[in-house]
Order: sequence, then structure tokens, then C-alpha cells
Amino acid sequence: MNSMEWTIQAGRTVEIREGDITRVAADAIVNAANSGLVGGGGVDGAIHRAGGPSIMRELDGIRARIGRCPTGGAVATAAGALPAKYVFHAVGPVYRDGAHGEPELLASCYRKCLRLAEERGVRTISFPAISAGIYGYPIRDAAAVALREVAAHLGNPANSVERAIFVLFGDSAFEAYLAVWRTLRAAK
Ligand code: ADP
Repeated sequence: MNSMEWTIQAGRTVEIREGDITRVAADAIVNAANSGLVGGGGVDGAIHRAGGPSIMRELDGIRARIGRCPTGGAVATAAGALPAKYVFHAVGPVYRDGAHGEPELLASCYRKCLRLAEERGVRTISFPAISAGIYGYPIRDAAAVALREVAAHLGNPANSVERAIFVLFGDSAFEAYLAVWRTLRAAK
């Protein structure tokens, strides 16, 4: 299996690996949800299947309280049978052309998940490539946003998150993240 790891500062690492996010243990697993919080295909379907019905029951309660989750936002539930304590259901933007606020909305998803993580004292968090599936975000552009936000968060020693794992589905998504990471490093 493909995997690569970088140290941002002492004890703070970003890992990129190929795989199924439902099989990777972390304190919090991030889901690429939709604003209805109703479940769907892709990683959302995989998370609900592997986590079991308790996650949707909890989302039913959240939906009853807040209605839809806005694009760029995220809500937290417990993780059911997944190897995690929490699932953060993040609502990424549907990609149109990149000029309709998509980068800001995608960055907002990552920041919101990292805030939910800090509020819960999460030390390890895993992310899929939010918006880069059915929502059509070009994978390299999505990777640049994701890696920038997460690396910045890990660069702050006051934060509780110590390890972020990007779990990419398939070799081409993994290679895209790897290429973007190398570009970001070279630009420093
Ligand atoms: P979105 O609607 O936000 O685009 P998708 O679930 O369609 O969400 O896709 C997001 C990314 O998650 C895609 O790159 C897709 O290949 C990937 N993906 C699908 N299933 C899994 C899984 N089990 N683990 C990790 N990533 C997954």
C-alpha cells in the first residue's frame, strides 16, 4: 500500500496514504457529507455502512435541531462501529468552475473539522478528499487546499491535533496528493 509521511514539527505529522478511510483508526474520521446530512454514495455511503445505523440516528437529531448543514460547515457525531470516537460530517462545495467561492468553502470545511477536533481534544484525524468525488472538485486543486489548511494547523504547537491522515481512495488520488505536497514543499 502506498503511504508517505512528513513531520511538520516535532511530534506533528501529516500522512498521505491510499486506502479505505473506514478501515483506518483515528480519534476522528471526517466524512464528505451533503448539506441534508442524509447519507449518500461515495465515502458517505461507506462510512454509514461501516459505522452502522447509530450515526444516522444521531444525524436525525441534529437535522431536527439545525436543519441543513451549510456548505463549508461540519457537524460531529459519535462513530458507531468505526475505529474512531467521532465522525465529522463536512459539507464540501459542488465544483462549478473554481470562481464561485469553491476554494474558500472547501478551506472552511477543513478549518471547521479542525475546530471540532480541538474542541474534543482529538489527537489523530483522518480526511478523505472532500468534494473530489461526486462534487467534481479537481483533485489537485482540492489537495492543495486540504494540505495547506491541515499543515498550517499542525504548525501551531498549541493545537491538540498531532497527526492528520489523508486516506485517498485509489492510486491516482494518492499520486495527486503526493505531487501537490511536493510542490508545496518546494515552494517553501
Ligand atoms: P463528494 O460528494 O464530496 O465529492 P465523494 O464521496 O463522492 O464526496 O468523494 C470524495 C472522495 O472520497 C473521492 O476521492 C472518492 O474517491 C473518495 N472515497 C470514496 N470512498 C472512499 C473510502 N471508502 N475511503 C476513502 N475515500 C473514499
